[in-house]
This record gives sequence, C-alpha cells and structure tokens, in this order.
Amino acid sequence: MTQLCVAIMVKSVEQALAHAAQAAERGADVVEYRLDRFTADLDAVRKIVIKSPLRCIVTCRPVWEGGHFEGDEATRLSVLNEVSVHGNALVDLELVARERGAEIAGGAKLILSSHDFLTRPADLTRRLSRMIHDERCDVPKLAWRARSLRDNIEAFELLATSRAAGKRAIALCMGDYGLPSRVLAGKFGAFLTFAGLDEESGTAPGQTGIETMKRLYRWDAINPATRVYGVIGHPVAHSMSPAIHNAGFDATGFDGVYLPMPIPPEYEQFKATVGAWLDYKLLNFRGASVTIPHKENLLRFVRERGGAVEPLAQRIGAANTLAVRDDGSLYASNTDYAAAIDSVCGAMGIKREQLAGRRVAVIGAGGAARAVAAAFAHYEATVVIHNRTLDRARQLAEQLSGASGKVVAAALENLCMSCCEIYVNCTPIGMHPEVDASPIEAWSDAKPALVFDTIYNPVETKLLREARAKGIKTVGGVEMFVRQAASQFELWTGRAAPTDVFEKVIRAKLQG
Ligand code: NAP
Repeated sequence: MTQLCVAIMVKSVEQALAHAAQAAERGADVVEYRLDRFTADLDAVRKIVIKSPLRCIVTCRPVWEGGHFEGDEATRLSVLNEVSVHGNALVDLELVARERGAEIAGGAKLILSSHDFLTRPADLTRRLSRMIHDERCDVPKLAWRARSLRDNIEAFELLATSRAAGKRAIALCMGDYGLPSRVLAGKFGAFLTFAGLDEESGTAPGQTGIETMKRLYRWDAINPATRVYGVIGHPVAHSMSPAIHNAGFDATGFDGVYLPMPIPPEYEQFKATVGAWLDYKLLNFRGASVTIPHKENLLRFVRERGGAVEPLAQRIGAANTLAVRDDGSLYASNTDYAAAIDSVCGAMGIKREQLAGRRVAVIGAGGAARAVAAAFAHYEATVVIHNRTLDRARQLAEQLSGASGKVVAAALENLCMSCCEIYVNCTPIGMHPEVDASPIEAWSDAKPALVFDTIYNPVETKLLREARAKGIKTVGGVEMFVRQAASQFELWTGRAAPTDVFEKVIRAKLQG
C-alpha cells in the first residue's frame, strides 16, 4: 500500500512530536522530520526519532539540493548516522552526496533522493537507474518541477520502471502542474506520497494538505482501476468542480477521482496534454469538464481525433464536456445549454417546447450567452442579445440566425423591461466582489415572467434580489451550475447525479 507521509520542518522536540501526533490523528502513515534547521542537539534528534508516534523518515536537506541546511557535510552526515542506528527510521540521502562518497551506516533503510526545483532534469531516467543499481538504496526518490501536466505521466512511468526492478519508488512533480503525481501516487504503486499537516505548511511547491488529500481527493479509495477526470482550464485553481464531482463520486460509491487540470491557452498545449493523458491507458482518464479558454479547443480536438460532437455543441461553437466511452472513442457536448434551458423551464413550470414564440433578452455576448441564446433559439424563442459591444452581439446573432427562432442584436442601453418575457444575465455584472452592481438599473412597472442570473457567486445577486422584491420569478446561477455538473456526472458514470450533494457543496463553498 502506498503510504501518506506528512513532512514536518522541525523547530523543537515538542513541536515535532506534537505535529507528528496531529499527523497520526489526521490519518498519516509516516512522518518526515526535516532537520535542516535543527542539527545542533543530537540528543534531541535521537529523542524525536525514538518517541515518534509514527514510522519516520529523517532528512537534513542541504541548500545545494533545495533545502535549508547551511552547515558542513560532516555534521550533516553525523546527524543522519546517529538516527540510522534506530531501525524504525528511514534516512533520506541525496544521490549527489552518495556519489561523492557519503555512507550511512546502521540499520535504517535508505531513500536515495534527487530534486530539481526549477525544471525536469535531462538525465532523470539515468538518475533512477543509478539509484536502482545502488545496493544500499531501498527507495529511489525523484522530485522535479513539472513543466506541464504531461510530466506526471513520466512520474508514473518512473514508478513502474523502479517497481519492475524490485524497488518501490517515490516520483513527484512539484509546482502547479504536479498535483496528479501526488494524488495518484497510490494508483501507480508508489512507496509514498507527501502532504502538509495543513494547507500552509507544505515543504515543497505544490504539496497539498493531508485533509485535502483525504477528504477532497479521497486518498484511501484510490486504486489502480480508479477512473480519472478533471477540469481543464486556465486558470483552474478557483474552480468548484473538484469539490462537487469528488463529493458526487463519494456519495454514489463511484470509483473515480477528479482533479484540477491547468493547461495553457494555446491549442497545441491542449492537444499535446489531453492527447498524452488519453494515450497513457494505465491512467484511465475518462473525461473532463472544460472551461475558459478551451471550449473551442475541445471541439477541434475531438473532431481531429475522429470523435463525436453533439450537434448543438457544434452549432454553439463550444463544448464544456469531454467523455471517453468504453471503446475509447471521444464525445464532446455542451451541458451549459441544457442546464440553462431546464433551469428556466423548471422555474416557469413549462416544457422546453413551450418556449416557442416567447421573447427572451440575453444580456452579454460571451461564452455563456452563446450557449443560452443558442438554446432558446433552438426552441423557437425570439432572442434579443443586448451587449456592451454591439458588434459582438451582432456577430453572435448572425451566427445563430440559422436556428429555428429569431435572433437579433441590440445595444445594452436599449434594454427595456417591457419588451421581453424572460431576462437572462450572461455578464459578470454583479459578480463577487462587485456585488452592488446590476445589469438592470432602471426597472419600469413592467413585470416580466422570469429573471435568470447565470452568476452563482453570490448565490443571490442584486439583480435577483430586486426582481424578487417586485414579485418576479427568479432563477440563480447555482441551479444552472448544479444542472450542468449533473449532466456531466451522468454522462461519465451512468448514474443519477446526487444533486442535493452538489448543491450543498457549492453553497458551503460560497458561504465559507
Ligand atoms: P465572457 O465570455 O468573458 O463574456 C462576458 C460578457 O459580459 C461579454 O459579453 C462582455 O461584454 C460582458 N461584460 C463583461 N463586463 C461587462 C461590464 N462591466 N458591463 C457590461 N458588459 C460586460 O464570459 P462568460 O463565460 O460568458 O461568463 C459570463 C458570466 O456567466 C460569468 O459571470 C459567469 O458567472 C456566468 N456563468 C455561469 C455559469 C453557471 O453554470 N451558472 C456557467 C458559465 C458562465 P463585451 O463583449 O462588451 O466585452
């Protein structure tokens, strides 16, 4: 079993043991004591190792390997040799030090390690080979800063190479692109992975806290067969989708894990990364939510790979969902469209077909407006697109003019509350932190049937508050968000989405 190790930067005996006890409580299997700044008192070091509540790794990382120890090598090695006599400890020694002749005596198992905090070292596989062939090395460890999500696959391959040679290894990517190597270490049979005691106290770039590993990514449930999903975007750190979908997998007992997948905006980056993840079959990468700026890239990619594109996603010109079918073929769809239309129909108590002939004002002409306007037009509504940049509204109206309904463009200033039955805000006006703004400033006495704000943060925008005060029916962005996520979940898992769980997670995130 792959172990979960909490790294502790030691400041005192009491602090180290207290943090180790907390790590044990939070479910860690191992602790790593980093002695970089705590080498003066050998008795104290010995005490920490003997009294450790968990099996431990002892490390004293020198500055030349990215650590904090500035003293001489003889002192460092004497500390490591001191703990090595206690069989319970593993000692971490850098490959460079070993090849300069450093010896660790005693019975402790030895982790031979190599780190690059800047990039992927050109001789990565040769470094692993030297570790594998060193008889004193029990566990090879390679850590480097990932240049893209593709580096994680290399980490998984290094783990496999080492395992085939009879040594379970540690292979970790650092930085924003490295999270998959940490979360999926158990899927690929790593010796261990690291986590911080909390979110802030990580000892390497990109290391996440133990609570996040256990609760969000469900560390204990991950196994070789686990299916992998993610949210592709740039940036994606703020996305609520990992919280929602992982909670959904947990609630339905589905063997899946969902990760943030940052990919830079260019199509070539998207193609190379998603292609590599799909081609590495052991990963079992089965789908993704796709957000800004990759919605058009997804369509192109799936077409180029001979996959199927939902006709409406094709017409909208953007897809937000990638699914990999059991036969390996790809499918791209747009779940924003159905989510928007069903949110409106649900609130009005009508069927989609009953939208025919109704007048709908769509405010905005960006990605969300495109999906919303296309959906209403498809069901033969008359859509008026009001946008700050009138030309953009005109372009969108022209692109959608082949749809069943009528689509026209209008200036934002001409938005009038008596012209339409349904109003949909697809701009960020009123979104956190600008919560006192609203796209509708002058309400007339007219009372439209429904006001729908696609913004979900805050849960109730100024626009919705004012509409509700006038007795107008309202729908918020949380509902659309839950519905679009539910469609994705059902497409991937074949199971009904636990929408109550989704909604609870979103509200907790937004209110917390
Ligand atoms: P986008 O592609 O960047 O488009 C933004 C649109 O808003 C553009 O038409 C832009 O007008 C307009 N706009 C931006 N700031 C404005 C301002 N200060 N005054 C007037 N118009 C302004 O963004 P998007 O992806 O469509 O997202 C828009 C909103 O939809 C977001 O706030 C997001 O919360 C919401 N959304 C919700 C969901 C959900 O599931 N609930 C899903 C997707 C999106 P110009 O053309 O003049 O720049």
